[in-house]
Amino acid sequence: MLVDNLIDEVKKRENSLKIIRDLIKDHGRENLYDLTGLSGGFIANQNDLNLLETYVGPAIFEEDLNKLGKEHLGGERILAVNRTSSGILATILTLLKPDSYLIHFLVEPPSHPSIIKSVEIAKGRYLEFDKMDEFHVVENTSLIVITGSTMDHKVLDEETFKKIITTAHEQNVPVFVDDASGARLRTVIYNQKRAIDLGADLVVTSTDKLMPGPRGGLIAGNADLVDKIKTTAYQFGLEAQPPLIMAIINGLKAFKKESLLRSIEKKERLMKMLNGYSMFEETPTGVMVSKERLKHEINSCGKIDKQVLSKIEKKISSSDLCFIWALILLKNESIITIPAVSMPGASPTVRFDISSKDALNLDMETLHKKIDDSFKKLLDVIKDLDGSKRLLYGD
Ligand SMILES: *Cc1c(COP(=O)(O)O)cnc(C)c1O
Repeated sequence: MLVDNLIDEVKKRENSLKIIRDLIKDHGRENLYDLTGLSGGFIANQNDLNLLETYVGPAIFEEDLNKLGKEHLGGERILAVNRTSSGILATILTLLKPDSYLIHFLVEPPSHPSIIKSVEIAKGRYLEFDKMDEFHVVENTSLIVITGSTMDHKVLDEETFKKIITTAHEQNVPVFVDDASGARLRTVIYNQKRAIDLGADLVVTSTDKLMPGPRGGLIAGNADLVDKIKTTAYQFGLEAQPPLIMAIINGLKAFKKESLLRSIEKKERLMKMLNGYSMFEETPTGVMVSKERLKHEINSCGKIDKQVLSKIEKKISSSDLCFIWALILLKNESIITIPAVSMPGASPTVRFDISSKDALNLDMETLHKKIDDSFKKLLDVIKDLDGSKRLLYGD
């Protein structure tokens, strides 16, 4: 397989970053479209930047952070962390006792790798459920994690959410919600309650998912628990530093429910234009293609003959297909999608997020054509193994 391990994924990412640098050098930032939905906004004005140079800034940021964080997530106490993953690690290290269970519920796998990895580091045990009729709390459980909305934007319904929280609390087990995108997706688009208002003890969200903030994480919840997690975060250097906190504050201030809702209307138009394909699925804020569906579309579109297809299958996995398509989208169409730039182990699903800032400058007709052209190119490229490798890793 072409992308075979985590090191390969890092190399692929570095190649993508180089392509992005070259595109910006040649055509400017305005002709590049980041549709990842994770554009890592960094809003800062001169006054904020001046404050960074003194000790006064952090004191002021702390107050704003607490106020805005509580408005956004609820809870008694706020902690800003370097990434959602850092928040997950700090929380699990703090609350999961060695040899005890962490039980994770999500609507559909895959779960975010940081949860399982953190359980390993904390020397705990891991149990995962995605069906409510199978869910149960085993003896010796010290933490329950609920993923509010998965990496693929699959959203947990509120009834199940509440049932899990009630069950956990009956056994005196705290509930921590990974609401990386869910804190906005669930509340704004699905009209659900905030995790804390549903009774969760702790929640973490990503400050660059569906909001104009930087890559960072925000934890909210029970004051005692957050204070304990804060201590762990300081010990391991997982807490956000003042420049990040400043941008998180400005991201929270700039977040508007209305623009998130407007992007939904555009998405629905795009989805209609794409009805010639069977591989696209609608997400709350865009369209996506899973590796299985991409493979199926390639196999069933009738553009590549059977013998060639079976040769390709031996060398190119369905994840590879996603990575190659993402690289074509980047190189030929100036569109950034997650599989081109993702961290190792992330889902290879190709997602076009219409709530992204760059989607404001892109009409859906143009995007439709870019998708068509890149898919045609993909059918061509995968017939050439060396060409595919060059595309993934550079020359
Ligand atoms: C994105 C995401 C994370 C990790 O966020 P980072 O900021 O990349 O650490 C964790 N869990 C879920 C469900 C996510 O979607």
